[in-house]
Amino acid sequence: MADWQTWMKQANFVAGAWIGADSGQTIDVTNPATGEVIGTVPACGEAETMRAIDAAAAAFSELAGMDLMTRVGLLWKLHDALMDNQAALAELLTVEMGKPLAEAKGEIAIGAQYVRWFAEEARRAKGEIVPPGVNGRRILVTRHPVGVVGMITPWNFPSSMLARKVAPALAVGCTIVAKPATATPYSGLAWAALAEEVGYPAGAVNVVTGSARAIAGAMMARDEVRKITFTGSTEVGKELIRQSADTVKKVSMELGGNAPFIVFDDADLDAAAEGAIVSKYRNSGQTCVCANRIYVQAGVYDAFVEKLVAKTRELKVGDGREDGVAQGPLIDADAVAKVEELLDDAKAKGAEVALGGSRHQLGGTFFQPTVLTGATQDMAFATEEIFGPIAPVFRFETEEEAIGMANATVFGLASYVYTRDLGRAFRLNDALQYGMIGINSGLITTVEAPFGGLKESGMGKEGGSQGLEDYLDTKYVCIDGI
Ligand code: NAP
Repeated sequence: MADWQTWMKQANFVAGAWIGADSGQTIDVTNPATGEVIGTVPACGEAETMRAIDAAAAAFSELAGMDLMTRVGLLWKLHDALMDNQAALAELLTVEMGKPLAEAKGEIAIGAQYVRWFAEEARRAKGEIVPPGVNGRRILVTRHPVGVVGMITPWNFPSSMLARKVAPALAVGCTIVAKPATATPYSGLAWAALAEEVGYPAGAVNVVTGSARAIAGAMMARDEVRKITFTGSTEVGKELIRQSADTVKKVSMELGGNAPFIVFDDADLDAAAEGAIVSKYRNSGQTCVCANRIYVQAGVYDAFVEKLVAKTRELKVGDGREDGVAQGPLIDADAVAKVEELLDDAKAKGAEVALGGSRHQLGGTFFQPTVLTGATQDMAFATEEIFGPIAPVFRFETEEEAIGMANATVFGLASYVYTRDLGRAFRLNDALQYGMIGINSGLITTVEAPFGGLKESGMGKEGGSQGLEDYLDTKYVCIDGI
């Protein structure tokens, strides 16, 4: 069994070969738990990306033209390769990103599940025969891979954010040029190593690291890149939507969130507190679907806060590779500064620290899991993503008030509701302007369902049958004179 260093590829994968940057320059990669440099990756840019696109364009006809079951068979092998190497790939992920090993193992496993799911879905990517309006005609609707896909992904889920793009793309025969985040490039490069190991044709999967602007610029400039799929901040997503207009590419955007987590006074409070812990503190609060604002109805406010504080106090902070650690470090010093800025703003506006509230004694980028009470809508985190381990608890009186506060943001990714009133659950499903709603659940990501946001949280879906649609073009053929 390979260890994590075996999967730590300090090179880029272009046209089936491992390469360095033309300039020979490299970028250091750091373990956020220790501050140590663990290796380097090439500082590639426009020229290398252009060659990757050439290779992907050349490989497209081979991958798209394969027998479906050969393509599906490759995905089965990819799934098995991920699971056979789950421990090593998870350790690599923890070393470069900081999340606890158990969460990293879960991330590799869900990535493998996405691969299996899309292998299954590819066999059902059916077309249609539509009744024609006049006799003597047949109307056929057929489905085709879009072509070369450019993928740009963030550091917080460096493996699974690519899984949700790589798997559907390869399933239908699209070829890939991917750029992982600079902070966590190895889990992205591991996808290239896995593709090589299971026998994908050269050029089907290319992974480049380096200047985001140069690499994205090359993707945008080329007609052959027919789709851009991006997961990251809303700010960069908007920029990429603008840039993609020149060659009218398809775009999928998985952008920022600001999830409300609403607890009604009829809720099972223990379940709600447990759900809040999972939703808020997973990945130290650095997920796009993290509970960002916890709204609690007045009648159960104090009881809920007490339970939340008690559970939060149990979270062990430390290096993700240590046993029992539930909270790793934040990704970098900027993330810590942002968390402190949001805390200072809230405290200045009257919030009280019920637990935590400062940097952790471990130093570096470790931060104490924090609970704030007395949060209000004028505080910055009411409209901004926290991306750190702060749980602000707001108070509300009525259902209408909770809905109004929950929707008062440009974001529309995930939301959570705890209630035992079935009618209320359906009313909230209608009223919440969010792409995903967890009723009595704080963990809603699953391969069978379409993950994605409304409003400025993005467009397109990942997972579900919809996740395959995004990689397919629809054509219609009219056959006349029958
Ligand atoms: P980010 O700063 O937007 O970066 C994401 C990716 O875009 C990275 O690969 C980054 O490269 C690249 N990038 C940065 N500037 C670029 C530019 N001008 N042109 C092209 N690419 C550019 O986001 P992040 O800080 O890594 O990730 C956190 C954000 O992602 C949060 O807002 C979070 O909510 C969101 N997110 C959303 C989802 C979802 O499914 N909706 C899932 C996870 C995360 P470098 O690393 O080289 O800068």
